[in-house]
Amino acid sequence: TSARVPLIAGNWKMNLDHQQATVLVQKLDWMLRDKRHDFAQVEVAVIPPFTDIRSVQTLIDGDRLKLKFGAQDLSAHESGAYTGEISGRFLAKLGCSYVVVGHSERREYHHEDDALVAQKVAAAYQNGVTPLLCVGESLEVRRAGDQVAFVLGQLDVALHGLSAEQVNSIVIAYEPVWAIGTGEVATPDDAQEVCAAIRGRLGQLYSDQVAAAVRVLYGGSVKSGNVAAIMAKDDVDGALVGGASIDVEEFATICRYQ
Ligand code: PEP
Repeated sequence: TSARVPLIAGNWKMNLDHQQATVLVQKLDWMLRDKRHDFAQVEVAVIPPFTDIRSVQTLIDGDRLKLKFGAQDLSAHESGAYTGEISGRFLAKLGCSYVVVGHSERREYHHEDDALVAQKVAAAYQNGVTPLLCVGESLEVRRAGDQVAFVLGQLDVALHGLSAEQVNSIVIAYEPVWAIGTGEVATPDDAQEVCAAIRGRLGQLYSDQVAAAVRVLYGGSVKSGNVAAIMAKDDVDGALVGGASIDVEEFATICRYQ
């Protein structure tokens, strides 16, 4: 019983070209309409590769689909000699609602550290795109029982210098690295523990109002069979879905977890 509208976001990762993207988005919309999905009750977003975003935007705008969309990354810079990078300004211009920042695959394969993640979060805000900030511990950290301290450390750096007004709109995804793409899902209690700790930290750093407003998602091998139990937890306000988000029937079922 909170005022937070749950968010189910599908991170397609490096899957689906722009033609496949238009097929999936149309099918997803039809399926959710068929099932009378109430977008005011549960928000649904797709997060395709950059090269798909224009096609997805055209479809969503033109047909007045209620899906939201976002990008998987952005540059810390506004513009200039940064070959291959994508500015938050471009994402804003295309109407992206969200941009994923600090996904574990970016941290691991592109050596993004917490300081760079913080710059990217700031760049997203500068352009009016809501950051979907990913945090989460490795298996090693989890085995040592240090998951809460580790995740709060990531959070403190990523949010450094932001105002309460900015943080009020952020979306945070708790994604234990050992559960991403592995089929290994955190238990609902594991998810709740860290999501509650994140909310507690927001209360300490900002205010109870900010803590109550921010949506904290869980991500890591979410599927139609485990989503309801995870969503039932008080401090879990949605899911960031990777692998299962490119299977449109599975993703639509996840969106209808209630
Ligand atoms: C992700 O990419 O954010 C993710 C949670 O992946 P998966 O659902 O495949 O574990």
